[in-house]
Amino acid sequence: MSNRKELDKKDKSQEGWLDEELVIVEFECIDCKKTDDVPDYIIDECSLDLKKGEEVELECPFCHGTMIKAKNAPSDE
Ligand SMILES: [Zn+2]
Repeated sequence: MSNRKELDKKDKSQEGWLDEELVIVEFECIDCKKTDDVPDYIIDECSLDLKKGEEVELECPFCHGTMIKAKNAPSDE
């Protein structure tokens, strides 16, 4: 019971940076067209192997195809 209070305290102090650091990026599968939300830090890790200008590609969890960053700016209609 007394442990619970300590946990609450920890949560409160982490809340702030969690909100700020966790950026979700939408990826879209080029094979099955499904989308998946990927945390920004995973993309950072994957982009370490990339050359400048190359897009991060992830494996689709649905069809094991290739996922790329979805273009979530619907400017052209
Ligand atoms: Zn897929």
